[in-house]
Amino acid sequence: MTRVANEAGIPIVCISLPTPFPIGPVNAFVLDTDPLVMIDAGPATQAAESALRAGLREHGIDIRRIEIILATHGHVDHVGLAGLIQDGSSAALRMHVADAWRLARPELGLDQARSFFRSIAATHGVPPEQVSRVEQMAADNWSMALPCEPGVPLADGEELIFAHGRLRVLHTPGHTPGSVCFWEETTGTLIAGDTVLRVATPNALLEPGGTPASDLETRPVGDSGPMSRYLNSLERLACLDVRRVFPGHGAAFDDAARVLERITRQHRRRTSRIAALLDQQADTAFGVAHRLFPGLKPEATLMAVNETIAGLMHLEADGAVCRSEGAQAQTLWMPRVHRQQECRTP
Ligand SMILES: [Zn+2]
Ligand SMILES: [Zn+2]
Repeated sequence: MTRVANEAGIPIVCISLPTPFPIGPVNAFVLDTDPLVMIDAGPATQAAESALRAGLREHGIDIRRIEIILATHGHVDHVGLAGLIQDGSSAALRMHVADAWRLARPELGLDQARSFFRSIAATHGVPPEQVSRVEQMAADNWSMALPCEPGVPLADGEELIFAHGRLRVLHTPGHTPGSVCFWEETTGTLIAGDTVLRVATPNALLEPGGTPASDLETRPVGDSGPMSRYLNSLERLACLDVRRVFPGHGAAFDDAARVLERITRQHRRRTSRIAALLDQQADTAFGVAHRLFPGLKPEATLMAVNETIAGLMHLEADGAVCRSEGAQAQTLWMPRVHRQQECRTP
């Protein structure tokens, strides 16, 4: 646990909470100002709840005094315990509307996630037996989110004013559609959620949105997808004079420019590899994913296919690849330059 005497800025307390995920512990932050704010809240597990209560106690923070919960995005490792804080404090939960649907109606969210996975699998060539594993994982994930009530959504550019300073809300979609960062310009401090991590390269995945899963097939045509959105968000952050990043996972760091550059480079390199694989043969996203990630395990397949689709959509928006309908109504991707006449017109 660390307390940061943010020079001339908002005092930030970091509380590290365990998660059952490979990424490891997640950071929750208390802005020790007026009103008292919590940013992110960890998954709803016994271990995370105990660590949160212990962390608040250690810093003499009474949970009932928390007036606002800000969520960087809607993943359960960041918002699972928001409901616990709301129960103890009646705090307002504020997050971007594109992620809030997950929490507002969890049963509907899980249903949407299931049909979304089935839709991706059917369209992009994933064998059905591999989908049931992912559905189970999604159900396990959802069980780590307590019911809670998102309040007024956060808007891009909105200024949040506290006794010790101001935070600007930056909508930085990509990791999720509703990912946001909180920017304190006076100190160059960025609270980044999973948009900027030093300990891992954040992924940019297609996610079920507030629209029916059947829209998936139409939505990507003309939509540049999560990878393009993420690269744009990284570019936007690279234009800021960031002096300190408080990420969703791992310790705070000062070399934001270098980290942003690394994440961008890795994603661009991955996308180029996808383009190179398609140069060899037209393929489904499933086929490309298997060539992109040799030795892919069944439980990781849908995630890998999802990541591959994000790369393909980015290439499609750039005009490098296109898609057409193959056997069994599956989407076949190919280089635009070679098979122009067979491409579906967006
Ligand atoms: Zn996340
Ligand atoms: Zn996370």
